[in-house]
Amino acid sequence: MRLDTNGQFTTDLIFNSSFNKLDNLGFSIDGHIPEINDPIRGNNTYDRCVRMIRKAVELGYYTTVTVCVHKKNMNTVDQLIAFATELGVKEINFHPLFIMGVERDKFTGGDHIRPNDWISIYQNVRKNIEKGVYKIHVRIPQRFVEKSTYQKDVERYGYCPVRMGERILVHPDGKIRICALCIGSPYFLASYNREEIKFGAPDSEISKERLERRPCMTQTKDFGNFVPLCISYKPYQNEHVWQRGAFDNNFQAFYK
Ligand code: SF4
Repeated sequence: MRLDTNGQFTTDLIFNSSFNKLDNLGFSIDGHIPEINDPIRGNNTYDRCVRMIRKAVELGYYTTVTVCVHKKNMNTVDQLIAFATELGVKEINFHPLFIMGVERDKFTGGDHIRPNDWISIYQNVRKNIEKGVYKIHVRIPQRFVEKSTYQKDVERYGYCPVRMGERILVHPDGKIRICALCIGSPYFLASYNREEIKFGAPDSEISKERLERRPCMTQTKDFGNFVPLCISYKPYQNEHVWQRGAFDNNFQAFYK
C-alpha cells in the first residue's frame, strides 16, 4: 500500500500511527533543484518536499520518489537518480509526460516531451540498470514499441492492469480506479464513503467499449509507427506486482 504525496503536509502527520501502516511513502517532485521544480509546483515546494523526504527516510519509512519527465528536466535524468540516491530513498519512479489523448493532456500545459526523446532516455537508463550502475531501484516505463514489434507479441505488449485487476488507486475525492490515466476523467470503477464501497459507475472504467480498445484502453492518440504501451509496463525491473506471477518470464501465466 503506497501513499502518493506532494510532500507539502505538516511534519506532525508523519508521526501519525496510521502512516506507519504504509508499505511505501511516495513523494512527487519534478526536479533535482528548486529552479526546475518550483516553477511547476509552486514557490518553496522543493524545500518542503525535500525536508519531508529526509524526515521519512530518517524515521525508517520505505520512501520513494516519483518524477514526471517533462521538457525542463528531460536532460537531467542522471542527476535526478543521483539526487534520489543522495536523499537515501529506496527507489525512483519515472513518469514521462506525453500528449496521449487523455484528460490529463489539458493540465500538462506545453511541458510534454516527444516519443523519440523518451525512447533514447529509456534505452540509456535500461543499459545502466543492466550494468548495475545505480545504487537504488530505478523504475522506468518503456512506453512505446514499433508496430511491427507489437504485432509479434501482442499478448506481452498488451499488459494492462485494468484487464488483470492487478491494483487499485484510491483517490481523496472518493473515486476508485485502476488506470492512473483516467485521473481527471469521468471514468472510474467504484466509489467509497465512510460507510461503504459502491461498485459500478455511470462511466465505467471497464465498459465493453473501453475493453475492446487494445493494447491500451485509455490512450487514444495516434502515435504513427509507435504503439503506446501501458504507463506501468516496466520490463525486467523487479516490479512488485509482477513478482507474484513472474510476468517478465512467464507473462501468459500471469494473465490466468
Ligand atoms: S494505461 Fe492503458 S494499458 Fe495501462 S492500465 Fe491504463 S488502460 Fe490499461
